[in-house]
Amino acid sequence: MKVATVSSTSPELVSSLAGVSQRLETASPGEIISWALSQFTRPAFACSFEDLALLNMLREAQPNIPVIFLDTQGHFPETLSFLDEMTTRWSLNVVRTTPTADADAWPCGTGECCQRRKVEPLGRALAAYDVWFTAVKRVDAVTRRAMPIVSWDENFGLVKVNPLALWSDDDVSYYLRSHEIPEHPLWADGYASIGCAQVTVRPAAGADRRSGRWVGSDKEECGLHEG
Ligand code: SF4
Repeated sequence: MKVATVSSTSPELVSSLAGVSQRLETASPGEIISWALSQFTRPAFACSFEDLALLNMLREAQPNIPVIFLDTQGHFPETLSFLDEMTTRWSLNVVRTTPTADADAWPCGTGECCQRRKVEPLGRALAAYDVWFTAVKRVDAVTRRAMPIVSWDENFGLVKVNPLALWSDDDVSYYLRSHEIPEHPLWADGYASIGCAQVTVRPAAGADRRSGRWVGSDKEECGLHEG
């Protein structure tokens, strides 16, 4: 499909993205990825290593794309094992962040904990790139219903692309099965959206995937997708 070309150095970049995003509403994830890689020279993907559908698409399009993994030091051992296994199997170029030096002063669930273990480390990592991809889907949670496909990320100061914004959970499952891509080991144990171990539980039957995150608090997002 044809959409407008933008340049990462163009002063019109930010204002042009809303129109580009609107035109990409009918594009496939592969077409969205192709558009972004044709426009920007320093892409990166922030990956939680929960589902690897988008990672597989990106590595096929650009094999050495940097894959940022936010090591909060609170992940399930299964997540870290899956990260190591897939890094070796797919020869991934993983950029693994660490929390800020004072992170331990902030307990899990406080805004400053995610800030110091996810948001600030991601901000430092993204400073090297001009576009970042995420696997966010609109169906993930009500906070993501209006997520554009392409936008200017005010928080981190670069372009953000969500190629799977229009996908359903079934689309992801079908893609993983049809491409024979391994699933996070905790999916088979009833988990869905997987974050830090101490605040992730299995969602109730019929509840949205992210309902198993931060149970018992009113926290719904960690601050990465609020730009
Ligand atoms: S999910 Fe909890 S432990 Fe993990 S970074 Fe956020 S607040 Fe900290």
